[in-house]
Formats: sequence, structure tokens, C-alpha cells
Amino acid sequence: MRLKEIITYRENCLIHNKMLKPHYVHPSRNIPVMIDEYGIHLISHERQNITAACLSYLWDGSYNKYFGCPEWIINNSINVYMICDICAKKQFKKIAVGHSTIPSIKENVYFYSFVLVGDNFNNFDGELGWEIVRHTSGGKFYHMDTQLSDNSISYRMGNINDTLDYLLKSMISIQVKDVNVSYIKSIDQLINKMKLYGVFSD
Ligand SMILES: [Zn+2]
Repeated sequence: MRLKEIITYRENCLIHNKMLKPHYVHPSRNIPVMIDEYGIHLISHERQNITAACLSYLWDGSYNKYFGCPEWIINNSINVYMICDICAKKQFKKIAVGHSTIPSIKENVYFYSFVLVGDNFNNFDGELGWEIVRHTSGGKFYHMDTQLSDNSISYRMGNINDTLDYLLKSMISIQVKDVNVSYIKSIDQLINKMKLYGVFSD
């Protein structure tokens, strides 16, 4: 998949309507990712107004690994999250995809992810990963976990204030394969869509 398509899959947060920015998630470090006129870069250090990239994935499909690249970069690959500033404050690195857990029910967060993998011939491949929406509204939660490689979606909705027992019984959980979820442009549109699924599954 071309880098341009990956980076423009969605431009604004579905929940906050703010610009999505790239983040690289490492368990113990905050590594900046930068997009410029050449492509997307993982920054190894920023000192005295000098920004040094250690990995660059360029719009033309070429890939560069520079001296000083940290050892923990394996397989020339990076996982990037596109997330707005408000959602990024919520320590999204702890958010697991694919499951609505009890602690995640009250989360309000949106992001999508992608992976870029460089080869030994200075080319790279990119793939979209997951699109995650966790939203609460009117005492209910609405979760959508989409695997963007094949658009398989898990929708979950239910009441926030239910006890655990009741929550598990009342939660509506639907797995579907949609043609494309990128047409969803707002959280209200998503909620309406999920309510429709809720009605049909009653
Ligand atoms: Zn957001």
C-alpha cells in the first residue's frame, strides 16, 4: 500500500475532530515521528535544533536507515499510531485492540495504526493495522475495533453502569465484515449505525 494512502486513511479524530498525528509507541520511550515533504521519519535525537532521523520511509517508496539507529528497531519496521493530541494524553500505549475489557468501557479514544517494513534494497512496504473507537455517550459505551487489512469489524455496545454480571449479559457484540469503514465521518454516524445493529440483534 502506498504511504500517501496510509497516512491519509483518516485525517481527523472521529471523536474530537482534531488532526491525527503520528506516534511511535515504545514501552519505555517516547520516540517522535515526523512527517515532512519527503516522507515519514523516526527521530533518533533532537538536540540544539538539530533533528536527526534514524529511519526514513519516503513518499516514493524508498527506505533509509541511518547510522545511530537504536538496536531495538527490529526487522526495519515501525508501528505507527495516528492519534489526536487529546486522545494521545490518555496513555494509548496501554490500549489493547480486539477486546472490550471492563477497564476499557469508560475510555474515550480513537486511533488507527499502520506498520512500515523496510527491506535490504532500500524499499519498504506499508500496511494499515487497526482502527479503534472507544466512546461513551448517554450512559452507554460504543466500541468499534476494525482490522483494516480485511475490514473485519467487532462492534460492542452496552450500558456503562451495569454490574459486571449484567454487563456481560446485556452487551451487544457483533462481528461483521464491512466493505469499508472509512465512509464513517463522525462519531454520531457510528453510533447510529451501531444502534441499528443493536435493534436487529434484539
Ligand atoms: Zn481524539
